[in-house]
Amino acid sequence: MTDKTIREKIAEIEHKPPRWKDCEHAPLAPWNPVCDTCFADAILAIPEIKEGQELREKAGRERPEIVCLCGSTRFGDAFQKANLDLTLVGIIVLSIGCNMKTDGELFDRLTTDQRNQIKVRLDKLHLRKIDLADRVYVLNVGGYIGDSTRAEVAYAESLGKRIEYLEPLVSGLQK
Ligand SMILES: [Zn+2]
Repeated sequence: MTDKTIREKIAEIEHKPPRWKDCEHAPLAPWNPVCDTCFADAILAIPEIKEGQELREKAGRERPEIVCLCGSTRFGDAFQKANLDLTLVGIIVLSIGCNMKTDGELFDRLTTDQRNQIKVRLDKLHLRKIDLADRVYVLNVGGYIGDSTRAEVAYAESLGKRIEYLEPLVSGLQK
């Protein structure tokens, strides 16, 4: 028997997440059956993560690096994975706050016009996250970079931010 990796331990918790109906916590998001507080506690209780956290706290009070994730919201899984991986190594991650496709129940009742207005606001908000970031990490899954992301990269470049890509850039294939 080999020891489980951190990722496997996290996957176990994700597979059977603690539910807020089974604990004393109030739900942070009533439509979500998972208790975010218990979920976070369970993740933080994984020995390797607990140890890493303690080491980082001991290392001093320096601000961790801030990374802003950019990319199409269609890559929700890539956002989650990058957020998790970077967070575990002690980086502050700024990411998309909502996904108009998977958070559909919130947006389904809106007209196309209303949805577009929200999208414009969310895009502007994302630029403010880039302002705060030391580094921008572009989630160009399959080489795809949409117009919003392209604009975000151009903005980040204009600010002199470091820009990295999930997948190597291939010219002509970025459309
Ligand atoms: Zn709970």
